[in-house]
Amino acid sequence: MILRIALATPLRRLFDYLAPQAIDPSLLIPGVRIRVPFQSRTLIGILLEVTDHTSVPPHKLKYALEVLDTQALLPADIYQLCEWSADYYHYAFGEVLLSALPTSLRKGKAAEASPISLPSNIVPDIKPNLNHAQEQAITSIKNMQSSFHTFLLDGVTGSGKTEVYLRCIDDILQAGKQALVLVPEISLTPQTIQRFQARFSVPIAALHSGLTEKKRLQAWLAARNGDAKIVIGTRSAIFTPFAHLGLIIVDEEHDTSFKQQDRFRYHARDLAIVRARTNSIPVILGSATPSLESLLNVKRERYLHLSLPHRAGNAKPPAFHILNTQHVEMKEGLSTRLLQMISEHLAQENQVLLFLNRRGFAPVLYCTQCAWMADCPRCNTHLVYHRTPPRLQCHHCDSQARIPTACASCKSTQLQPIGIGTQRLEEMLAVHFPDVALIRVDRDSTKRKGAMQDLLAQINQQNKAILLGTQMLAKGHHFPQVTLVGIVDADSGLFNTDFRAVEQMGQLILQVAGRAGREEKPGTVVIQTRHPDHALLQTLIRDGYQSFARTLLLEREQAVLPPYSYFAIFRAEAYAEKKAAHFLTAIKELCLANNAVSVLGPVPALLAKRKGLHCQHLLIKADKRNVLQGFLADLIHRVEEISVGQAVKWVLDVDPVEV
Ligand code: ADP
Ligand code: ZN
Ligand code: ZN
Repeated sequence: MILRIALATPLRRLFDYLAPQAIDPSLLIPGVRIRVPFQSRTLIGILLEVTDHTSVPPHKLKYALEVLDTQALLPADIYQLCEWSADYYHYAFGEVLLSALPTSLRKGKAAEASPISLPSNIVPDIKPNLNHAQEQAITSIKNMQSSFHTFLLDGVTGSGKTEVYLRCIDDILQAGKQALVLVPEISLTPQTIQRFQARFSVPIAALHSGLTEKKRLQAWLAARNGDAKIVIGTRSAIFTPFAHLGLIIVDEEHDTSFKQQDRFRYHARDLAIVRARTNSIPVILGSATPSLESLLNVKRERYLHLSLPHRAGNAKPPAFHILNTQHVEMKEGLSTRLLQMISEHLAQENQVLLFLNRRGFAPVLYCTQCAWMADCPRCNTHLVYHRTPPRLQCHHCDSQARIPTACASCKSTQLQPIGIGTQRLEEMLAVHFPDVALIRVDRDSTKRKGAMQDLLAQINQQNKAILLGTQMLAKGHHFPQVTLVGIVDADSGLFNTDFRAVEQMGQLILQVAGRAGREEKPGTVVIQTRHPDHALLQTLIRDGYQSFARTLLLEREQAVLPPYSYFAIFRAEAYAEKKAAHFLTAIKELCLANNAVSVLGPVPALLAKRKGLHCQHLLIKADKRNVLQGFLADLIHRVEEISVGQAVKWVLDVDPVEV
């Protein structure tokens, strides 16, 4: 008896073993975990097939050691999803399949579910009366509830998208089915779960990387056996098995955190659609600022467009002001005009939110005598100057160093932090507004477990306060007291080499703006820029996201950029400077015979050196998705052959979100 087994190795094949000696053949059920010897270790794999033939020579066949389960771990739809993903992302099937399991199952722990209970302190919410747009959206979805359809729920911030999700889930639950809700950020999950729990007194499971291995396993098992009726999770929750899945929701579908950025680089939003198709169920993509990919799919009539054009209840849309910061006096990044507006809003006992997507005190420490800058020894980047606690830190590899008292080059003590991060902004605000509560939210201030929840609670308890932070503060939260939002520096996004940067900046501006004036009090949004006439910024502010997106789509079409063409990037890294480029040049030569694709590069990555590794990229582009896919399927095996024995780490990134 030969066992065909999937193992988590980068090798793109399955592995054959002999059945464990003296095992009862009825235990060899496809889908169980099995322990096998592999090189000098033992690995846990998944049994896929029992057969009687193998191409492995008899003297090389080893015995599998032990079967770990009495029933298959994963249902058929998860296999299909993993197979599809391995194919599409050209990644080893074994790794994809094993990565669909919670860590503790990968390590060999027992798959024993414990009953999940309802929290005891649920405060039921009051269902609002739906407005017309919500009614229409819900009716459209309900009418197609038992077949595959992709809906784009395109609704401005605060328009009641979540209410639409809740009503649709209600129906799914009534029908005895389960729902999966994907959300981008871990920090947002606590409120989201509370809101869902307040509506439904059914067990809800959360799945995200902040859980202990044990809790994660329990949530996963509860979804699989049908006990958890709703699962709310981040990216990887798309691989959760369900007893009876009836609906998938992807909230903030435009968010790039749905794309995994290392190893197996899947896009959870795209996989949600694949999974919904496999399961013949609807999928709802929700956003106030849909991705251009999704908008084009609406235009091509692949997705059904549902629109919530107005804020729900009495909330009004915020008013936008562009503040030209060229040639005006600035105090640590804030113009006098913005400071004055902050005072006015605080005087009314309101809250102000300042957005600055740069943590630390200053991005650079600079010698005023010789222009030396403190750089990371392992990466091609500057060390960020942090004040609380004081140190220099690399935001790419986390290297830390003491703050030098003298320049490493000329020994001068005239060192100056240049530029502004959230800590510096906080320090200046503390001097300027000594009696106002300052609440800073960034990766540093939320490191401790539960810190984010504490900060959010503080925000809700205060009346007047200044909230400042990075994009952790920008997304999804509901801050009813905020009436003024200040975007401290819009230019970093408007002028960037990535062709998606402007799209992302526009989305971010509207997301941050969406925090203002969500209830009775009207909101104001101030955007500081040195380029007040930037055409796309003007379009965004004056005509709204729809026009902004339409203009961007037109530009992309003319330039034949995604979503009007398809990209894949080979990313290669090596300790020796030339190695990665040589390797990619060899790949490029394999591509040149084919006219259907074009090849760009190799070029150094934006961060040309990271953790001591030199990084290079090779971009492959085609006009049609299936042309690119067919080409890659063929190419990947040849790339594998030429990579043998090379001291190069490489990965293929299909549909990259960072270019
Ligand atoms: P979104 O998810 O689009 O940002 P939410 O669903 O969070 O919007 O709704 C924003 C606010 O409006 C919430 O406080 C919600 O309870 C409220 N709301 C939603 N729908 C209605 C409605 N039909 N009437 C009144 N208030 C509503
Ligand atoms: Zn110097
Ligand atoms: Zn570094």
